[in-house]
Amino acid sequence: MLRVILEYIVAIDTSEKTCSYLLLENMAKKCFLCDSDDEIIDFNDETFKNCILKLAFRKKKNFKYNFVELSSASLQFVGYHTTCYKKVTVLNKKYNEEFLQFSAEYAVSI
Ligand SMILES: [Zn+2]
Repeated sequence: MLRVILEYIVAIDTSEKTCSYLLLENMAKKCFLCDSDDEIIDFNDETFKNCILKLAFRKKKNFKYNFVELSSASLQFVGYHTTCYKKVTVLNKKYNEEFLQFSAEYAVSI
């Protein structure tokens, strides 16, 4: 009987540790692109919008990084590095026109 109780307590203890570990992990934001949590910058409205649009455009065009998922719900867990942000948001100049067109349509659809 005592042994069962002890095992029960151990089980509670372990699950609590898991919870606090998860909590800690969530507090350290990670980069949306490289997954590192080193010196993360928080998105603001402008950088977030820009990133979402560029990712949507990349998805549509099947460009590099078209698999990256970013949503407003993930904002509390992710931020970015300047270098990673640029990798995603800088497009070849020849797509400028097309991107402008795309972002105008995208803004209407949301
Ligand atoms: Zn990064």
